[in-house]
Amino acid sequence: MELPFAEPYKIKMVEQIRKSTKDERIQWIKEATYNLFKLSSDKVFIDLLTDSGTGAMSDKQWSEMMLGDESYAGASSFFKMKNTIKELLGFDYVLPTHQGRAAENVLFSVLVKNGDLIPGNSHFDTTKGHIEFRHAKAVDCTIDEAFNPTLIHPFKGNIDLNKLQNVFENNPIEKIPMVIITITCNTSGGQPVSMQNIREVSELCKKYGVKVIVDSARFAENAYFIKVREKGYENKTIREIVAEMFSYADGMTMSSKKDAIVNMGGFIGLRDKEIYRQASTFNIIYEGYITYGGLSGRDMNALAQGLREGTEFEYLESRIGQIEYLGKKLLDHGVPILEPVGGHAIFIDSKRFLPHIPQSEFPAQILGVELFIEGGVRGTEIGTLLADRDPVTRENRYPKLELLRLAIPRRVYSRNHMDYIAASIINVYERRNEIKRGLKINWEAPIMRHFTVELERL
Ligand SMILES: *Cc1c(COP(=O)(O)O)cnc(C)c1O
Repeated sequence: MELPFAEPYKIKMVEQIRKSTKDERIQWIKEATYNLFKLSSDKVFIDLLTDSGTGAMSDKQWSEMMLGDESYAGASSFFKMKNTIKELLGFDYVLPTHQGRAAENVLFSVLVKNGDLIPGNSHFDTTKGHIEFRHAKAVDCTIDEAFNPTLIHPFKGNIDLNKLQNVFENNPIEKIPMVIITITCNTSGGQPVSMQNIREVSELCKKYGVKVIVDSARFAENAYFIKVREKGYENKTIREIVAEMFSYADGMTMSSKKDAIVNMGGFIGLRDKEIYRQASTFNIIYEGYITYGGLSGRDMNALAQGLREGTEFEYLESRIGQIEYLGKKLLDHGVPILEPVGGHAIFIDSKRFLPHIPQSEFPAQILGVELFIEGGVRGTEIGTLLADRDPVTRENRYPKLELLRLAIPRRVYSRNHMDYIAASIINVYERRNEIKRGLKINWEAPIMRHFTVELERL
């Protein structure tokens, strides 16, 4: 008999999670005004709101916490983190920050000016926020295949080189300080970028004198996809692939809450000393001194150890395998999801799940509400609520895709939990025709409404 899959870790400490009854959940979600962000986490049985900062640290990471050096300047923990980043990712200059968006804030304070254009592959929302806040524009150059939810393509995060070249040719090049490659591409569903694409983007950028910055939150998951999907990389180690990916970049920003498997943290990696010097000043203003940047010594120790564990093949195979397992179960039951499944989440396609509910009634949100009621499973809406209103007309913006995202935390849930999640979704799918209407808004904030919106059933 072939030996089945088993998680490559065992459990040393457990956290109790509480089951509830359907009646309780119907009451709770009503009290939370049908906003999943407003549920207190003790009312959630399986929490798939995000994979950011929700991972389980290892025994080795916890022991590194005890070895943290809390000196203000020049702490040994900083050097442990810096040397690990140099060894694994290849960057000489490192600035710690308290999370990924802080790294963006510091680096963009140096690189982004009023009126600039920043091409990339579907920039993450905080990245876009930091660009637009500086009155610059994020230009999406993702390949068209990324926007077809059922098209199978191994690297749906790729940048379209023709689109990129057009941006370079049709704008003053001094207005384009950098291209941002996000690996994996969060916004298009955790979809990877191929090595060939990273290399070709980098070559094009060199030709035009434009910097390449990698938004690296899920860089190790991207390396895993290159290993299993791209010809010529099947026999390379994850660390060899990681080193090659970053060799094409001038710099990187990192949310360590993802692939460094810590609960809080981030950093910037750079090759250029002058940019590092300028960024250091902003780091001191916004984050903290250049050897701690908003992190405790113990955080930097755990982060360094997390980078090592996060770049091991066995770990990545089990993590991404868990998401593939859940995705396959759903597809086998005909549940419409984004394909192929990405690295960190399953995205349910609400337009196909609830085709009778118009986008004006927030179909992905009502699906999230029904899934919570069914099994106490919490996802998050990536649809009309999140897309918010047009700043000028104040009309709803209707995105192409109306998704419910189920993000899987790292090393937290077992295969039994995946079966439970799948059963909850399948049960909702089987009664989808009984879900006749969506939701309407009773109150919303002028921006970022999805966090605090109050809704009511129609
Ligand atoms: C999470 C994330 C960020 C922002 O990082 P935070 O740690 O949440 O501030 C930036 N880019 C990508 C691709 C991300 O996934």
